[in-house]
Amino acid sequence: MPLIEVRALTKLYQMGDSVVRALDGVDLDIQRGEFVAITGASGSGKSTIMHLLGCLDRPTSGVYRLDGRDVSGLSDGELAVVRNQRIGFVFQTFNLINRATAWENVAVPLFYARKTNTKAPAFRALERVGLATRAAHQPNELSGGERQRVAIARAIVNDPLLVLADEPTGNLDTRTGEQIMEIFRGLNEQGVTVIMVTHELDIAQQARRIVQMRDGKILLDRPTADIVAERGPAPPRKLPSVETAPSAGAVLATEGSMGLRPVAPAASPAEVAVAQQEAPIAASALPPRMVRGATPAIVCGLIAAALCVLGYAAQVALQKIYDYKPEAMDPMHPKMPPMPMIIGSGIASLGMLVGIVLAILAIVFGYGARRRALTEIGNWQGRRRALVGLILGWVVVAVPVIVIILAVVKLATGGFGGAK
Ligand code: ADP
Ligand code: MG
Repeated sequence: MPLIEVRALTKLYQMGDSVVRALDGVDLDIQRGEFVAITGASGSGKSTIMHLLGCLDRPTSGVYRLDGRDVSGLSDGELAVVRNQRIGFVFQTFNLINRATAWENVAVPLFYARKTNTKAPAFRALERVGLATRAAHQPNELSGGERQRVAIARAIVNDPLLVLADEPTGNLDTRTGEQIMEIFRGLNEQGVTVIMVTHELDIAQQARRIVQMRDGKILLDRPTADIVAERGPAPPRKLPSVETAPSAGAVLATEGSMGLRPVAPAASPAEVAVAQQEAPIAASALPPRMVRGATPAIVCGLIAAALCVLGYAAQVALQKIYDYKPEAMDPMHPKMPPMPMIIGSGIASLGMLVGIVLAILAIVFGYGARRRALTEIGNWQGRRRALVGLILGWVVVAVPVIVIILAVVKLATGGFGGAK
């Protein structure tokens, strides 16, 4: 039984009055362990068939059986499960979460699969692409080739049936692209089934079978060895297109190199959907991360609260100790309160004042940290800590404000001494 069995697969797009036959009755079988390159000119239907094979989209008609199971009619939720468990994706634009480290990115499919053991498999996958030493780096600290290797590690971390790669070398220079192809070849030798879309003839020839598309149909489908035996290996990609074009009639080469090197296609809606819709959920399972400003906010808030509570307690205690009651002071025989009480009370007031200033600082730090944390996908730890500092600061500021408001209200309603 083939791993992939496609029959009369058709995808139509309605464009105004006309219908685009993006895929036009395609039949295709792919066995386990194959390494297939899908080539063809721009607009020939490569991405469309990849999206269907990757369960990112449903066909208009036709049958798609993956590992013996008809997936053409599954619901969105069921397709998502098939994608998560059965298929690894590698995109031209890497589609990594920038704020997560390499290993966290690799672990994303495991987070979805609600696996508890995520770190060890992620590190193993990184080892398979030769990137174990970069596990703790974020994507912006990695080169393009390394990012794509992280993406490949993510694609294989779940041991999928199938790895789909849409122009995986499209954003890389020739040499880096070759290294990436080396990795795909290695994975394929270890038994991973790989299907790759590429415009580049020399890249396509790294695969063991080449499927060439034109106008939504399969034009040619042959083992690479046969093609190379007939026409020789692909000329180097860097040569001008005129020289790369082989003898007339060599359809694959003319279509594959297509004159100019095509402009790198932008991320398709499906890629964007995968990146946007799945990343935040995945990131919620990421390990806690600090955010700058949260710790100062909490420290300032705590010290502020402590100073205010201590200061207030000191005032009350001093008044008790020296039995000081301002209201009991005899205006006829005024008397200074005891000196230690005056000094102590002054220090306590100063403490409370410093507390209020620190509380305001806590609020400033807290807002800054919270703003930063909100831009970090899934940084719940950072958000919580920023919020704690913020709340501490606001409470310390709010309590005296509320006391003053209450006093003013009481004064206005004749509360003080009026009833006696
Ligand atoms: P390739 O990846 O080989 O460049 P695609 O599979 O992206 O080609 O596109 C095949 C054809 O389907 C093209 O004519 C393209 O314009 C059309 N097409 C692809 N996606 C859509 C869409 N979402 N809406 C309308 N037409 C589309
Ligand atoms: Mg495409």
